[in-house]
Amino acid sequence: MPYTSREIRLAARPTGEPQPSDFQLAEREVADPADGEMVVRNAFMSVDPYMRGRMNAGRSYAAPYEIGEPLYGGAVGEVVASHHERFAEGDIVVHQLGWREYSTVRSAKKVDTSLAPASAFLGVLGMPGLTAYVGLLDIAQLRDGDVVFVSGAAGAVGSLAGQIAKLRGHRVIGSAGSAEKIRHVLDDLHFDAAFDYHDGVADQLEQAAPDGIDVYFDNVGGEHLEAALARLNNFGRVAMCGAISVYNATSPPPGPRNIFQVVSKRLTLRGFIVSDHADRHPAFTQEVGGYLREGRIAFRETIVDGGVPAAPQAFIDLLHGANTGKMLVRL
Ligand code: NDP
Repeated sequence: MPYTSREIRLAARPTGEPQPSDFQLAEREVADPADGEMVVRNAFMSVDPYMRGRMNAGRSYAAPYEIGEPLYGGAVGEVVASHHERFAEGDIVVHQLGWREYSTVRSAKKVDTSLAPASAFLGVLGMPGLTAYVGLLDIAQLRDGDVVFVSGAAGAVGSLAGQIAKLRGHRVIGSAGSAEKIRHVLDDLHFDAAFDYHDGVADQLEQAAPDGIDVYFDNVGGEHLEAALARLNNFGRVAMCGAISVYNATSPPPGPRNIFQVVSKRLTLRGFIVSDHADRHPAFTQEVGGYLREGRIAFRETIVDGGVPAAPQAFIDLLHGANTGKMLVRL
């Protein structure tokens, strides 16, 4: 097969903030697909916060990336050669071997590009979308009348979590990292209130939720979690989705100082990993796909051009909040 594929390999495990030198651009020849395989020419690849954890040594909930080996993660593209009985050339598929131009895969999912462009299947209709849906409905067990607080509100997961809660009739408060993002959260995503966390979380959350909150969708951890525990009403629930404020920490950060609130208010804090909830994909696609068809959901993508060589910097920038909505690299 006449393809050469550029890819990004892990050159070194980052200490603290990832650096460009932790990544290496390399090339490899793409072989003909064997039986049960297909070759996909990737159009977009995803950079996601969880990838930071996989760059560390030692197993977390996902296996670590290996030094000298290509990174991997969500990507979407067109099948250009197939020896797979369920996929044909021309199919548009999502799979898990991103960070490269061509991927040889055995397992993928066809996507319906009549519903949304292919890139959306890495964001609003993909893994981050399902995370928002499961976190809000199954983990936080959203109930009538709940006031909902979402951190990372301008990001891929948070923007959808807040909009689903809004569409289900809830009062929704969001936090994000810049004035421009706050405008987006209020004007385009139609949250009821939003604030820039750089100006402090506890006081602004109290102002936005004078009667407290019932659900906290936590994408951030740290100061946000402590402030949310202080504002949660009795029997409140926290979907513990992520803790991006500590992903680059080099020593363990202190826990919330007010953890006893969990006892006194009878709170439920529940962590989850989206990959355990694949059974919810049909319900998620039906509800969120329906909202999209009806034009009731706004979704942004921050698309970085420059192909595979641009991916490491896109990942580094994601951790610094360069994205609004889903961060993607166009390949
Ligand atoms: P986002 O699109 O939200 O991008 C990450 C955002 O995090 C940045 O844009 C930045 O926005 C924000 N951020 C960075 N540093 C800080 C900080 N110190 N404090 C507050 N915010 C910060 O990413 P995703 O939507 O993909 O992921 C959101 C969260 O969900 C992450 O924690 C991720 O790990 C988690 N996640 C968990 C899953 C699960 O299965 N449990 C699955 C998918 C994601 P800003 O400018 O606002 O700071």
